[in-house]
Amino acid sequence: MASEITVAGGGIFGLACAWELTRRGRKVRLFEADRIGAGASGGHVGALAPHAPENWNDKKQVQLDALVAATDWWAEVGAAGGVDPGYARTGRIQPVAPGAEARMAERIRAARAHWPQWAGMELTERPQAALVPVSPSGLWLVDRLTARISPRRAGAALAAAIRAQGGEIVEGQAAPDAPAIWATGAAGLAPFGGNGVKGQSALLALDMADAPQVFADGIHVIPHADGTVAIGSTTERDVLDRRTDEQLEAVIDKARVLCPALADAPVIDRWAGIRPRARSRAPLVGPWPGRPGHYVANGGFKIGLAMAPAIAAMLADLMLEGRDRIPPGFWPKLRAGG
Ligand SMILES: Cc1cc2nc3c(=O)[nH]c(=O)nc-3n(C[C@H](O)[C@H](O)[C@H](O)COP(=O)(O)OP(=O)(O)OC[C@H]3O[C@@H](n4cnc5c(N)ncnc54)[C@H](O)[C@@H]3O)c2cc1C
Repeated sequence: MASEITVAGGGIFGLACAWELTRRGRKVRLFEADRIGAGASGGHVGALAPHAPENWNDKKQVQLDALVAATDWWAEVGAAGGVDPGYARTGRIQPVAPGAEARMAERIRAARAHWPQWAGMELTERPQAALVPVSPSGLWLVDRLTARISPRRAGAALAAAIRAQGGEIVEGQAAPDAPAIWATGAAGLAPFGGNGVKGQSALLALDMADAPQVFADGIHVIPHADGTVAIGSTTERDVLDRRTDEQLEAVIDKARVLCPALADAPVIDRWAGIRPRARSRAPLVGPWPGRPGHYVANGGFKIGLAMAPAIAAMLADLMLEGRDRIPPGFWPKLRAGG
């Protein structure tokens, strides 16, 4: 019988890797030093949103593949463990800045070239949506590819799925220093370079159910199925405390101006997490150089929730079948002295 695989880290990367190995028939034991979702994966936002399709590259293709596969992948997770991860492909609406029409037309052409037909982007003067951001140009860009997930529910759903299929999850215990998949988030980046980037978000009580999410002026507004709307995020380099502060209040105020429907919705939670940002800004996935049997899944930065299923599948292909689909830019490289 094949030996058990150890996974270090109960964030979205560690859980996704553990689930992918479990669903392929391997026995997994996951160690989480704190509790499931204690790190960057325990927040509110959960935008599974594509990169802008211009200047197409490997990273954009991997992310697109992940977004396309996400519906089935998360449905299987929910069915396996009986916990709903809060996934839905609800689309996205963005106001178009005055004068940006030509750039948006170029974006739409690029989406047609690279995205599946059904996912298409288009400009509209009459958005059909419950939550519409103010648009000074009177134009909005909409797409049908963008989805959302509830990060906390997603972690719980993955943990339930792993346990239901015989995997073991040990919380409150750091992983032993033995061969493992190291998915330890910002704390685990040191050997490879990179840093933590703090982000703050808020949760409002407002039932917008399956309304498309909004991206406006750098702010995500994500309606969840449970009668809440998430707002995020700040981006604070090299700040490693987990306090929320006035920077989050500024984001909330801005979101209420951008989306007047949020004006009176009460804030029911405020949160901060530390995103793992690799030196390359791309995810890190593959063997840990110089440590046979050790693998890395890290560097999710701002798109870790969207990328996790793809990262897990690529790593499982490599570990179980020797099949390398990992873009060269994602392979972990030690920093000098790492
Ligand atoms: C405010 C904010 C908003 C975000 N919004 C989005 C979004 O809309 N869409 C998106 O795709 N991404 C988003 N992200 C990014 C995403 O959350 C991260 O990329 C992702 O959560 C990283 O997951 P991870 O598993 O690598 O790290 P983490 O979630 O940090 O998990 C690492 C875990 O490892 C544990 N650990 C550390 N050391 C050990 C050890 N030695 N042994 C055992 N366990 C250990 C930690 O306790 C932690 O739980 C957002 C992040 C933030 C902060």
